[in-house]
Amino acid sequence: MKIKVDSCVCNPEKIIKGANIRIKSSLLKDKNIQFDCSNSIAYPPFINSHDHLISNWYPKAGFGKIYPNVNIWVEDMKKTDSFLERNKIWINDGSFDLTEKIANQIASLGIYKNLFSGCAVVQDHIPKQKPIYYKDNPINILENYAQHHSLSMGNWWGGESAEEEYTKTNGSVPFIMHLGEGTDELSRECFPKLKELKLLKSNTLLIHGIALTKDQIKACAMAGTSICWCPNSNYYLIGKTLDIDACLEYGVNVVLGTDSTMSGSINLLEELKFAHHKFPHIPMKQIFKMITTNAAKALMLPEEYGAISNNTSNLLLIKKHDPDPFRNLLQVQMEDIELLIHQGTPIYGDVKFLNEFIVNKDDYYFYGNNRFVLGHPENITDSINQRLGYKKDFPFLPF
Ligand SMILES: [Zn+2]
Repeated sequence: MKIKVDSCVCNPEKIIKGANIRIKSSLLKDKNIQFDCSNSIAYPPFINSHDHLISNWYPKAGFGKIYPNVNIWVEDMKKTDSFLERNKIWINDGSFDLTEKIANQIASLGIYKNLFSGCAVVQDHIPKQKPIYYKDNPINILENYAQHHSLSMGNWWGGESAEEEYTKTNGSVPFIMHLGEGTDELSRECFPKLKELKLLKSNTLLIHGIALTKDQIKACAMAGTSICWCPNSNYYLIGKTLDIDACLEYGVNVVLGTDSTMSGSINLLEELKFAHHKFPHIPMKQIFKMITTNAAKALMLPEEYGAISNNTSNLLLIKKHDPDPFRNLLQVQMEDIELLIHQGTPIYGDVKFLNEFIVNKDDYYFYGNNRFVLGHPENITDSINQRLGYKKDFPFLPF
């Protein structure tokens, strides 16, 4: 399959105008079939570096308050309508076993949130699950990582101490931990503790970092430590976000994450827009890096992620609304995604593309105006509606 596009953003530094992209897939009926998509732009599929798949309920779980640290919100959150509604479907028994049937269904909802916004990879910040959790999903749920919840709350949801978890990485997989999610003393204490525990490493990915000072951000840059920016969630809970300008000034490897919809954006497309809205002086190219090459580096992903060539088995094809491919991202809605291919498999988009692949149509859900998605998210919502006794809408699902 060849797709002629307006431009192909191979990586943040390389854009090919008028590219004719060749799709590598063993599933193609005719390898030379040609599509003319001259009004579309090709990108590498996006990477969401921070989510909690099990917590993608809606609306946000809060009382419109600003919290000095996230620990207080975690308690308040349990009294919100959103949390209590999710409890009707799944009650967290503290085991955090997301392979259990109902838990797995809710986590799958989070997978679809990411898929429908053009992500081929998501980091689900949760204690390591049984291997089956990471298998046979329509997109890649990062499997190789070690994690700690936070130095302020410990690994309350499962797992060992921060030092023991870090040791498991052998330096070759990312060590992921929330840090400084607040503005108070408790939040400020986290970074000195991180240094003391010798966890400021090049394979460390810190989530949020709201409490970090300029000097501490500089230390992250020098250590090669990555930081995940979740501006929407930060403003909602804490009323403040990471000092992103200092991060960019010192050259920190910054990545972008949505967090769950209980505190953050409804998906990564909205997170991009929010980041731009709050920080319009940051070039969109820089924000694009955060969801592609920077994320691939922080999550230590194989080379196929974060960039594409014009001969590729991964593709995100999006309608062109703006001639600048980076600014185009500010206009994108879920339905503007014409095609998402991951590892040669079409997973989401317009049916005209799917028809050119040898696939079992029963493996797909078809909806709307000739749209397809791999898997059956409609079974998840049907089951939720049945259990609730009314129709529940999730704004990150396009059907
Ligand atoms: Zn989080």
